[in-house]
Amino acid sequence: MYADIIIDLIHENVDRVFQYIVPSQLEGKVKEGMEVLVPFGAGNKRKKGYIIGFSEKCNYDSSKMKEIYEISDKAVQIEGRLVLLAGWIKENYGGTMIQALKTVLPVKQKRREKISRTIRLLLNEDEARKKLEEFLHRNMKARARVLAELMDNKELPETLIIKKLNITRNVIKTLEEQRIVSVESERVYRNPIQHTQRTASIVTYTQEQQNAITQFKEDYCSGIRKTYLIHGITGSGKTEVYMEMIEEVVREGKQAIFLIPEIALTYQTVMRFYRRFGDRVSIMNSRLSEGEKYDQMIRAKNGEIDVMIGPRSALFTPFARLGLIVIDEEHEATYKSEQIPRYHARETARRRAEMEGASVVLGSATPSVDSYYKALHGEYTLLELKRRATGQELPQMYTVDLREELKKGNRSIISDRLKTLIEERLEKKEQIILFINRRGYAGFVSCRSCGYVAKCPHCDVALSSHKNDKLVCHYCGYEESMQTSCPKCKSRHIGGFKAGTQQIEEIVEKEFPTAKVLRMDMDTTKEKGGHAKILSAFANEEADILIGTQMIVKGHDFPNVTLVGILAADLSLYANDYRAGERTFQLLTQAGGRAGRAEKKGEVVIQTYSPEHYCIQTAAQQSYEAFYQAEINYRELMGYPPAEQLLAIYMTSRDEQLLERGAFFLKEYAERVNKRKEYQIIGPVSPYIEKINDVYRKLIYIKQERYDMLIDMKDFLEKYIEMNSGFQKIKIQFDFNPVNVF
Ligand code: ADP
Ligand code: ZN
Ligand code: ZN
Repeated sequence: MYADIIIDLIHENVDRVFQYIVPSQLEGKVKEGMEVLVPFGAGNKRKKGYIIGFSEKCNYDSSKMKEIYEISDKAVQIEGRLVLLAGWIKENYGGTMIQALKTVLPVKQKRREKISRTIRLLLNEDEARKKLEEFLHRNMKARARVLAELMDNKELPETLIIKKLNITRNVIKTLEEQRIVSVESERVYRNPIQHTQRTASIVTYTQEQQNAITQFKEDYCSGIRKTYLIHGITGSGKTEVYMEMIEEVVREGKQAIFLIPEIALTYQTVMRFYRRFGDRVSIMNSRLSEGEKYDQMIRAKNGEIDVMIGPRSALFTPFARLGLIVIDEEHEATYKSEQIPRYHARETARRRAEMEGASVVLGSATPSVDSYYKALHGEYTLLELKRRATGQELPQMYTVDLREELKKGNRSIISDRLKTLIEERLEKKEQIILFINRRGYAGFVSCRSCGYVAKCPHCDVALSSHKNDKLVCHYCGYEESMQTSCPKCKSRHIGGFKAGTQQIEEIVEKEFPTAKVLRMDMDTTKEKGGHAKILSAFANEEADILIGTQMIVKGHDFPNVTLVGILAADLSLYANDYRAGERTFQLLTQAGGRAGRAEKKGEVVIQTYSPEHYCIQTAAQQSYEAFYQAEINYRELMGYPPAEQLLAIYMTSRDEQLLERGAFFLKEYAERVNKRKEYQIIGPVSPYIEKINDVYRKLIYIKQERYDMLIDMKDFLEKYIEMNSGFQKIKIQFDFNPVNVF
């Protein structure tokens, strides 16, 4: 018997399968997905490796073949199916097989089992009394204490005896050996969710909810497995629909994974699931201890739970009977891994579901353009929830043109309209959120008089300003020099955007001296729990106004907030990236969703220098469809995903010259592969951040309509990189349809 093994080394040049002999003493014991120790290289160093398959036939010179040393008994075994999924991840996202295997195994080390022991007295009353006398007589105080306690209680948990009576385990052992007590061990699982009573659901579904549920159930019962996209506005009752779908799947004896961004994984959400599914549900998140995580995985593996809730990595829960994967807030960027392999949970979920006969349900109030595109092209089944389940109204949205404010002589970051509304709320003792989005902000230059924004003539994304007074495009490298007056209206009010949360806090405190203000940003949330502290203070109405960055828009419910002010919508709109518009629309919609969640109707003020921009207009109209139409036209025109597929190649090195040469040669090679001009190859260019911690960065983009052709290109480039020593000191990563800016 021979085993195919992937050795645990990150080097590209050992990223292949090695065959080892399975020694007779291990035959029947080794399994696919197990971690083993093997001799490796000339010195036969002990290395870890994973078994990914077996064969009867020896593919190499059998006299040179080495034997597996042993099974590493501390490591967790990867399920066979997840080994296959790892292969797919490696193929589709680049990186090595060992990196892919580690990805599908979120908990790698076995943890000590938690055992609960019960001590029971074996003697009858008479015998016990005699023994006690004997112990006291012989001055065996510890034994006497245990015995006396057990005479009162007959049986006690060991932990209690050890802690309360200050007894060592040895004493208990001795008593056990003398057949005075018995010790019974039972494995207990660390359970992150405290037990709660299961309560039946009492909602009557709305017609829209019912339609979505019925369609899913009919498909599921007739064996149809596919991907659904639930497009439902905030509060339309998506979570209720997910739970009903999951219950259906569980009723059929299957298991379900519910993915949710960690930041949105609130106590309330978990409790809703817990009330419905009792202790057949569990969670995975970064706050759990390693022991807790390990136990959840074992429970899943043993089929002791039906539903796993968690962030991206919970996708690899080792369920044996997977029936459904739900991805809530499917548009969120956190579903894309920022480490090699840069997999996307959405695509990987579809692959896993296909392999294991499961369905996938994606849901969002603002679906990603990618998913909506697939839904309109028939790849996903679209389910729509257009009304709030509680019948509550959507907030009123206003746009304020900041150019007009400037004309009126108001240079403050707070428009007259917003000011009036804030005063009104302060009077009524209702709360206000002021939101400044700096995510993706990359120093664009704009005119405060007319709203002009400096953009790349080739790529139609905003240029970023650099210290040397240059404006640069980070897709194609186009450069121009910084203007001192607006090319459109000649105004001198042209420049970068300067607004931090701290400055805003000062302005707000000056304009509204009686208001109590809280600020939430990177600075105020540095300490552990700082985030939660501010949120709960605001929820307890200890402040009137909360100022914050994108951190505050997600998932939190503040029933007394009736006004949300978006101070400068342009900040995210003009990020140097083709997804800037999509992200802005999502943020505006989510921020809007914070206003008026309870009985009180909310209002939202969007301040902008670009009120005519389609993202602002469609967000104000609260029309996802209108946004999508405009956005897809732009993507098609410019050849961005999903109209075309984009492969980004990130290259980093401490050696600037080496990196420059490497990037040049890689591009040259790509051009050689591209004899028939089927690909569009752009770069190499420097990203917005050219250097981090003395590590230089470069990137190349490759566009093609077909994903599989981009994979072919990646394979060619990987081989080329592997064979050329010039790349050894350069780290190269592939990123398909990048979500976050490099
Ligand atoms: P979403 O996930 O789309 O934001 P939720 O499922 O959280 O929506 O529902 C929003 C609120 O409406 C919740 O408080 C939920 O309990 C309530 N809700 C959902 N469906 C119904 C229904 N059919 N009838 C009454 N209330 C509902
Ligand atoms: Zn201008
Ligand atoms: Zn450009």
